[in-house]
Amino acid sequence: MDEENKIKPLYEKEIQCPICDYKFMVTKTRGKFLKLDSRDTDNCPYYEGINPILYTAYICPECGYGALERHFSDVTVNGKAEVKKQITPKWKRREYHGEISVEKSIEIHRIVLLNYTVMHYPYDEIGKLCLKISWLYRYLKSPKETEFLVNAYKMFEKAYSNEPLEENPKNEANILFLMGEIARRLEKFKESIEWFGIALKSDGMKENPALEKQAREQWNEAKQQYKSLEKNKE
Ligand SMILES: [Zn+2]
Repeated sequence: MDEENKIKPLYEKEIQCPICDYKFMVTKTRGKFLKLDSRDTDNCPYYEGINPILYTAYICPECGYGALERHFSDVTVNGKAEVKKQITPKWKRREYHGEISVEKSIEIHRIVLLNYTVMHYPYDEIGKLCLKISWLYRYLKSPKETEFLVNAYKMFEKAYSNEPLEENPKNEANILFLMGEIARRLEKFKESIEWFGIALKSDGMKENPALEKQAREQWNEAKQQYKSLEKNKE
């Protein structure tokens, strides 16, 4: 087998921008090369070798439209108009492909965040994106991790009070779990305990025993942390 045809962990694929129709190359990872090593309690993954989460956001070099892979082709008429009005006029042409560092991936994901904001994406999706950006900063041990955890928490709170999350019970249970865990990480233990309590009562939780177990463990952890904090105040 020559070098050209040898199967490699990264490969390039052509995609088309749904806003300006420009065709460009993006880098993707091959599943069989990925080795998940561990996850933090908020699901932040650690891989041995290539980390696929660095590669799942795309930016169009021509117009500046960007989205996560799973959303890339879905644009509404309004979303398209907002990108053309608010993103493209300020966009300076640049391309992202080949091997992507954590720093580059942060740059890409922050452009996606800008796109989601102008396109008025649902708050739960913006929250998940902020959480992912906080993980990228966590890999770098940057204090910006906290800033994006705070943003994720705010977005999930807005989603909980403004969006019909109950229409998708699986997603709702996951968001409620994340709110409990993010509040715990931000040392808002009282709020964390409340969110885990709501999460454990939600319909979607009953269908996901693994998440339920994780929620109970983190709920207990938050209660312990709250107790020792109160003790220190005495
Ligand atoms: Zn484009």
